[in-house]
Formats: sequence, C-alpha cells, structure tokens
Amino acid sequence: MEQPVIALVGRPNVGKSTLFNRLTRTRDALVADFPGLTRDRQYGIGRLGPAPYVVVDTGGLGEPDDVTYHHMQRQALRALDEADAILFLVDARVGVTPGDEALTRDLRQRGKRVWLVMNKIDGVDADVASADFHALALDRPWPVAAVQGRGVRQLMTSVLEDLLGEVIDTDEPADAEAPGEDDDPERPIDVAIIGRPNVGKSTLVNRLIGEERVLVYDMPGTTRDSIRVPFERDGRHFTLIDTAGVRRRSRVNDGVEKFSVIKTLQAIEAAQVVIMVLDAQQEISEQDAHLIGHTINSGRGLVLAVNKWDGLVPENRERIRRELDVKLGFLDFTRPRFISALHGTGVGRLLEEVAHVYTAARRELPTPALNRVLEEALSAHQPPLVRGRRIKLRYAHQGGRNPPTIVIHGNQTRDLPDAYRRFLINRFRKAFQLHGTPIRLELRTGE
Ligand code: GDP
Ligand code: GDP
Repeated sequence: MEQPVIALVGRPNVGKSTLFNRLTRTRDALVADFPGLTRDRQYGIGRLGPAPYVVVDTGGLGEPDDVTYHHMQRQALRALDEADAILFLVDARVGVTPGDEALTRDLRQRGKRVWLVMNKIDGVDADVASADFHALALDRPWPVAAVQGRGVRQLMTSVLEDLLGEVIDTDEPADAEAPGEDDDPERPIDVAIIGRPNVGKSTLVNRLIGEERVLVYDMPGTTRDSIRVPFERDGRHFTLIDTAGVRRRSRVNDGVEKFSVIKTLQAIEAAQVVIMVLDAQQEISEQDAHLIGHTINSGRGLVLAVNKWDGLVPENRERIRRELDVKLGFLDFTRPRFISALHGTGVGRLLEEVAHVYTAARRELPTPALNRVLEEALSAHQPPLVRGRRIKLRYAHQGGRNPPTIVIHGNQTRDLPDAYRRFLINRFRKAFQLHGTPIRLELRTGE
C-alpha cells in the first residue's frame, strides 16, 4: 500500500498545528496554494520507525456560528475523503464544546475510522478530563500533550498498526535496503514525475511507457494501491511511480481534481529520483519552487525537465533560462534538461540524467579525496572568526550515501554560517560531480 494518509481535524486552538509539527519534518511541509484549495491546509511526511505516512492538517474548521464555517468546513471535509484515518483533536482543558459535537456528527457520516485525541493533558488529570468526552460517544480518548510529545508515539503506533495490519518495529531504521542491493546495475531506478497541472506530465509518461500501458493501469479500484510501471530505455531499467499524471485524462477534469498534493508527496517518498516538470511557456511559480524544495529536503535526487521547448522563439528560451537562474537560484545543484514531451526530443537525455543522479547519490567518496577538497576549500576561503577565534575544520569523511553525507570534524563548528556551509557543499558537489542529489553536511565539534 502507499503511505497511509492521516488527517488532523478539530476546532481552532485545540493543537492541530502543534501536533502536525511534532509528526512531520516541518521544514518540508507543503502548503496547498493552488487556486481552489484552501491556503491553510498543510501536508507533510511523518515516520514511525520504517513506516512513512502522510499527515494533513485540515486547518480551517470554525465554530458553527462562524460565518465562514460552512465554506471552510466543506473544504476541510473534502480533505477527509482522501484520508485513511482521522485524528479528531479535542482540548482536555476546555471539555466538550458545541463545535466538537457538530464535528462529531460530520465525521460520523463519513464512516471513516476516527481516533479521538484529547490534547493538552499536561497539568490536568487525564481521567477526569476524559470523562467529559464520553458524551461524544466515540472510542475512549487518547490522552496526549502535543506540545511535549507525550503520548504521541503510542497514539501513532496504534493508528499505523491498525492501518497497516502489522506490528511496527519502531527501532528499525527507515529505508532499510539489503547491503549491495543498491549497487546492482540491473536494479530498476524508481522515478516519480511531478509538477503542476498541464505542464505535460501525462504526455511525458505516454512517451516513456506508451499509451497502452497507461490505459491498462487505469482501472477502477487501483487508486489506493501504489501503481508501479516498469519500463526500459537504452538497456536501463526504470520503474515509474504513479502520480496523478499517470491517470487517463478523461478521469480527471479540472485543476483541483487533477493535482493532488497527497499523491505528489507519496510519489516523492516512494521515488529515488524525481523528475520535476516545468512548462517553458509559463512563468515559474512559487508552487514550483516549493515542490523542488520539498524534493531536495526529502533527500531525493532531482532532475528538472523544462518541457514544451518546441516552438519557443529564441528570446523566450533566454527568458526561461534567466528565470531558472533567478527564481530557483540553484543551477549549481542540477542541470535542467530542455525537452518536448510531445515530440520526444530530449527525452533520452532526460533519462540519462536520471541515471546519472541516481549514481551520484550513491557515490563512494574516498576519505583522502574528501580531505583534499576540504583543504582546497579552506585555503581558498577561510572560515570566519567567531568571538575572536577562528572556526577550525580539521578533517572529513563520508557518513553515508543516498543522499551523500559528509561529516566534518572541527572546533566551534556550531557557529559556522550557512553561507559557508553552502560554499563547502558546492565545492564537494563540483569535485565529485554530485549534480542533482542533495548533499548533507554534518559538523562535529571536538569541544
Ligand atoms: P490549532 O489551531 O488547532 O492548529 O492549534 P495550535 O497548534 O495552533 O495550538 C493552539 C495553542 O495551544 C497554542 O498556543 C499551543 O501552544 C497550545 N498547545 C498545543 N498543544 C498543547 C499541549 O499539548 N499542551 C498545552 N498546554 N498547550 C498546547
Ligand atoms: P499534465 O496535466 O501535467 O499531465 O499535462 P498533459 O500531459 O495533460 O499536457 C497538457 C497540455 O500540454 C496538453 O494539451 C499537451 O498536449 C500539451 N503538451 C504536453 N507536452 C508538450 C510539449 O512538449 N510541447 C507542447 N507544445 N505541448 C505539450
């Protein structure tokens, strides 16, 4: 199954965003800011041991007398249709309110599994507080204090074990792959194709795997299970992870339906390399930048496909190149590929880049070479003085692969400015040709 989707609902101030932050890597939360979607709905990836899940903070559910209630409620409730489990938050300090009761009725109509979560139990007697919530006639409330994290792990273990139907070993690390399996050249590369509606994702998918395959996989009832389509190009094997773009066009009628933040998050999570498709005939939007940022923060390899390159006059090609540089500002990171999914031009090169990024993410970085690059960087540009003492970076070694992680030992490394970190990362990227993969820098201090 795809990563399960867990929605947080509740009145304002019960602690939904506090719990959301606790569950997810907040830094990469995606906020849906597509026209037609509420702005305040947040999406992120959480993880319990080896099991990733999608968290949606449904945001705006007001009290019933609020004028905007009905509109916002419709929006928020729609998010629940995509959820596998609903965490219904209530406030232990306030007790049951009419808003809680109205929500309970709405939730009951959905027929989904609802977990009553009683938040803010820090400093209150949980037994006394929970007695009040029996009035809602739901299961017994789970006591948590989102602000401290109390009870949250037990709650999530219970929710996920129920959803996945198996016991989760929370000590098992994420992404456990058999050693060596990664380096098998026959092993297919898992690729996700993401991007805004109408940039050409379906057209690209059809190019890669052919119309027939798309129809075969477009069957009712397959939406909940992960769809993985194998294909081959120039002797290399790939597996395409399903996104909205894989679906047949007739099934999806407008932009709101067509773009699913949840599907996109699930695809990124399941992929090793993400192809982000941009439309050369449109401006690069903030949402494009968010999707790219999220992909990089997730540690996935990234290839930029600038589509609809056909029929562009030279000055427009110049414009998009400038925009890529100015708006995304990370051309050191990746080499955009200019393609026409419609005519098939550039698609071979695009897949070469996917394979290249995949290899880069797994590259062995020998310690002597790492230290040579570090020394060159230090002599080109010394780290700054902090409180009169110079930050010292002594030696480097590789801490992990996929994404490449470089550990540097030194003194006062906590004070190293972000600009200097970026400078170092760029030196390593150039020296080891690590285009398209995030690089993690871990600084250790001897003091
Ligand atoms: P939301 O409107 O449901 O998203 O609620 P927020 O997450 O913004 O929280 C509302 C307020 O409750 C904030 O001031 C939080 O700091 C506070 N809060 C959230 N969780 C807890 C908790 O477990 N204990 C206590 N004491 N306060 C909390
Ligand atoms: P999706 O919503 O991202 O899956 O986008 P589609 O694949 O449905 O494409 C949206 C529109 O852009 C369709 O009318 C396509 O024919 C058109 N399109 C896709 N790729 C290209 C391309 O390379 N060049 C041109 N000129 N049009 C394209």
